[in-house]
Amino acid sequence: MYRNVLLKLSGEVLSGEGSKGFNLDALKYMAEEIKKISQHGLNIGMVVGAGNIFRGKELPGMTNSIADHIGMMGTVMNALFIKDYFEKSGIKTVVVSQIVNLPSVRSIHYDDIDLYFNSGYVVIFAGGTSNPFFTTDTAAALRSVEMKADILVKATKVDGIYDKDPKRFTDAVKYDTITYEEAISKNIKVMDTEAFAICQRYNMPIIVLDFFKKDNLLNAVMQNKVGTKVVP
Ligand code: UDP
Repeated sequence: MYRNVLLKLSGEVLSGEGSKGFNLDALKYMAEEIKKISQHGLNIGMVVGAGNIFRGKELPGMTNSIADHIGMMGTVMNALFIKDYFEKSGIKTVVVSQIVNLPSVRSIHYDDIDLYFNSGYVVIFAGGTSNPFFTTDTAAALRSVEMKADILVKATKVDGIYDKDPKRFTDAVKYDTITYEEAISKNIKVMDTEAFAICQRYNMPIIVLDFFKKDNLLNAVMQNKVGTKVVP
């Protein structure tokens, strides 16, 4: 079993695919899946996106940096939404970020993060990388290395990495494993090149899986074969 897990969730996990906002069924499902792994006493870090609220590229007329700041604030909103729901579901959760100064959000200190994990808290890293021009995939790669995770789980709506888009091509073939090198050179869209590059540099394995298939997350954490693993 992996003991230190960083889970990257897209904002759309909170709203349902192609929708905006929050969907309580989606939150309930997420809490159930997290509970299954938190019962095993793992250290669980989470990075959440903001696609359900706002992505920087959505309004082409906007100044890029400001649009991205709005996107990053969206990740804080999502993190607080999840925290509140998790706490009410019996999952102890703390939100940390460097981009806001709110009583419900703590700042990021490595020593404190270890204390949160040791006390059984799920730690949600909000605010992306704190910089515009990046995405929460890159934030997930950075945080996974910072928290010395054993695995970065990229939870999506597809069940792994394919040689071509499985929605458009019926003959698309799924990889069981793929190297960082291949993922970058084939321009695999499931994660940013920046995120793959950070994981490659620090040997952080990634599992890409379908979060909406029940127990997939649990199976991944148990090291059962699920999704696609990105390896050196
Ligand atoms: N963002 C940013 N810097 C970061 C992370 C995110 O500027 O380090 C902004 C960016 O505008 C992005 C938005 O926040 O579009 C939401 O993040 P992302 O697109 O990764 O969300 P997801 O697609 O995972 O829901």
